[in-house]
Amino acid sequence: MPGKCRFNNVWLHLETYKTWLEKVQDPRKARCGLCSKIIDISNMGESALASHAKGAKHQAVVAAREGSSMTITSFFSPPSTSTDDFVTATGCSTSMLKFCKHRWVENLSVAERGMQLWPHVKRYVEMVGRGELPNPKVKSFEEVKNRCADPLFTVKVGIFISIAREIEPFLTMYQTDQPMLPFLAEDMTRLIKGKLKH
Ligand SMILES: [Zn+2]
Repeated sequence: MPGKCRFNNVWLHLETYKTWLEKVQDPRKARCGLCSKIIDISNMGESALASHAKGAKHQAVVAAREGSSMTITSFFSPPSTSTDDFVTATGCSTSMLKFCKHRWVENLSVAERGMQLWPHVKRYVEMVGRGELPNPKVKSFEEVKNRCADPLFTVKVGIFISIAREIEPFLTMYQTDQPMLPFLAEDMTRLIKGKLKH
């Protein structure tokens, strides 16, 4: 006998699913907007969503979308024993800012804060490597460790910061109800030409 579970609209508002869950016409199915995958919920109901979210492919898509700033943020939040170890070991208690997934420009300050913290993060990772501190054994630590091994990481973030600093005034200037459209083409050309010169 086919499963009797049906789509529940409540799921669309749940923190765990709301960033990717989509309703489809067939009430026995749901869709993941990130993986573009149809999920059969007829037998397992909500468990089918939870199991999709845990899947390696879905996690990879989420990680790719969120990028490395998110990695540092998730390492620092929620505060845990490893955060305490971090503060004790490095003497750095500046907290990481929250990475914003949707409003790109707001991540300028996140990236700047990340750069400020980076030497401390590196020192922490080295201490864990030497066995002076316990390994926090969380996925975000492994990712932070990988970034530490990338000699160009700070350069990459630096490039993001320099580009974002130039684009930010441009983007905020156009966040207005004034009739700005006639000026858009010229401003944009100037911006892109300026970027190409670097
Ligand atoms: Zn997915």
